[in-house]
Amino acid sequence: MLSKRLLARVLGVDAKTVRVEQAELVDDCVQIRLRPRIVHRWRCPHCENRCPHYDQGRTRRWRALDWWRTRVFVVAQVPRVQCAEHGVVVAAVPWVRHGARHTIAFEQVAAWCAVEMSATAASRLLRCTWRTVGSIVARVVAELDGDALLEGVRRIGIDEISYRRHRRYLLVVVDHDQRRLIHCVDGANRRTLESFFDQLGKRTSLITHVSADGAPWITKVVTERCPTATLCADIFHVVQWATEALDVVRRDTWNEVSERRRRGHYGTGEGKVLKDARWSLWKNPDHLSESEQARLDHIAATHPRLHRAWALKEGLRVAVTGVGPEAVAALDRWTQWAQRSRIPSFVTLARRIRNYRSAIVATITHRLTNALVESFNTKIRLIARRAFGFHNVAALIALARLTLSGQRPTLPT
Ligand SMILES: [Zn+2]
Repeated sequence: MLSKRLLARVLGVDAKTVRVEQAELVDDCVQIRLRPRIVHRWRCPHCENRCPHYDQGRTRRWRALDWWRTRVFVVAQVPRVQCAEHGVVVAAVPWVRHGARHTIAFEQVAAWCAVEMSATAASRLLRCTWRTVGSIVARVVAELDGDALLEGVRRIGIDEISYRRHRRYLLVVVDHDQRRLIHCVDGANRRTLESFFDQLGKRTSLITHVSADGAPWITKVVTERCPTATLCADIFHVVQWATEALDVVRRDTWNEVSERRRRGHYGTGEGKVLKDARWSLWKNPDHLSESEQARLDHIAATHPRLHRAWALKEGLRVAVTGVGPEAVAALDRWTQWAQRSRIPSFVTLARRIRNYRSAIVATITHRLTNALVESFNTKIRLIARRAFGFHNVAALIALARLTLSGQRPTLPT
């Protein structure tokens, strides 16, 4: 049999606090029996206070990290203690978190895998379900200090991100300077945003800039709770509004074409050209391939109204991503152009931009970067897709926090 010292070393337990009693092969798994050495008294797992002994407790089993092809389990009898505050609870032992069925080392590796690889890869490598990984992630995140992230924040971004097919929203707050996620909760509304400011407390007075999408409730809460901060527009959302306005025109054009096709005016190819052109219309023209450019040219020749809508979208994108007084002038020229465009979705957009002008100008002047909010938006959507298998929003939030708050897990090695 392997030496007990060697086993303790492989398991990563301290020989001073834990004694390895024996290791045996049970049903193709290595089972290692441990006995915690307690010098004084057992501790409560919640408050870590020393507590009186309650009973011997039963033998418990936890999954440890595999030894290559063989699964490893740790077995120990852990007594229960009587905590004045938490009642009768299983005493704390050094190799496992309270209530967990995996050792701390296993959980650390699982959290690392959850962040670094796909759901399928992680659950195959760890040989446990993705849902189990989800509850491990939640336990690991619960130990992180969320309040530390709020220290010294100056410029924040507030965003609402939909998950589960646009029916539910997360409230997301990012720190523009540290480039990290500092707050993420289920439900984007007045109440959740107010409780964020409650948590921020006195530190609110340090905030100089707040960027947000155009939601009126965000503007309202921010002006009430954080009156000294400059409210800036998230350019990412402004460009998104333009893309949505363009999509309305594209759909109208497409419906028109199919109507005419029914009457025999067009060949069947026309609808397909419009459908394929979708990406060419959305993309930044600097990134267009030759065939995408050709589709755009085709649209310019055959559907001038759609092409004009595209030019309006591009005009707004160029104006709002610029900096300084020229960009502000370009924004005002754009608003007039859109108002006179006689394309309803852009006339509405022009009105929205006019109402939101001061926030957009603040962003252009203060050069508050847009890339952070945009990249977090994309990343959280990707995480939401992966976390969908967890079937609960707490696990999604935990995974987002673990990945984006600058507190990424490290391997126990
Ligand atoms: Zn306690």
